[in-house]
Amino acid sequence: MRILIISDIHANFVALESVVADAQGRYDAVWCLGDVVGYGPMPNECVQLVEELVDYVVIGNHDWAVLGRPGIDVDDFNPMAREAVLWTRKVLTASNRALLDSFPDVPVQPLEVPDLLFTHASPREPVWEYVQTPMIALENFALFDEKICLVGHTHKPVIYRWRLERAGEAEDGGGTGAATVDQLPIRPEEPVYLDVSADQRLILNPGSVGQPRDNDPRAAYAILDTDPMTWEARRVAYPIDLTQSQMRAAHLPRRLIDRLNYGW
Ligand code: ZN
Repeated sequence: MRILIISDIHANFVALESVVADAQGRYDAVWCLGDVVGYGPMPNECVQLVEELVDYVVIGNHDWAVLGRPGIDVDDFNPMAREAVLWTRKVLTASNRALLDSFPDVPVQPLEVPDLLFTHASPREPVWEYVQTPMIALENFALFDEKICLVGHTHKPVIYRWRLERAGEAEDGGGTGAATVDQLPIRPEEPVYLDVSADQRLILNPGSVGQPRDNDPRAAYAILDTDPMTWEARRVAYPIDLTQSQMRAAHLPRRLIDRLNYGW
């Protein structure tokens, strides 16, 4: 089974369409790791296409903020993100709001792939925490049992690998000193074999469709192939200027428009 993994679309419909076109013929199912809206100019179109495409989806922190759910205060966002959230609240239709509200806010364990879960941010804080260092990854490996966890939220493609330093040590991964976490190199379009042998587990991030933050402005996504178990990080160029003109028409903050050029 080949699964198209998308995350952090952030209402960038042009980027989402480009990803779907690029992935055409390469996938049998679609999973979305959240943040369908926020920042970008086309939230309604993105919610509808995600609803059409996905087999599984979780909610992200921006989705949550747009819905105005208790537990997330829009004033905790930076001013530009806050402005985009408030704008999205105004333009999102009632039916698309209801769709967004139906996305789960707890980690998902897809039936089709055993020993795997996914969440927007981290196992510890499913909507909030940024897994952006090996140390944070190590702490999180102790908090789930599956071999593989997929996350989004940081907008940076990454593969963290958890291993036991010596065979026969405790397998709790809980900071006993026996477990280590390193990062596997990612080369676009070179599938990485995910060795989930007894003493190895993985946290993987596909990067962001709609607002990459790894200095590469191209839309990011991944293909997880379960036979054999491989992860292919992919990038696709899209007409950024089209998204930017939609953002200007919506009077979204200038810096949110400019950052798309830089992949940051
Ligand atoms: Zn995001």
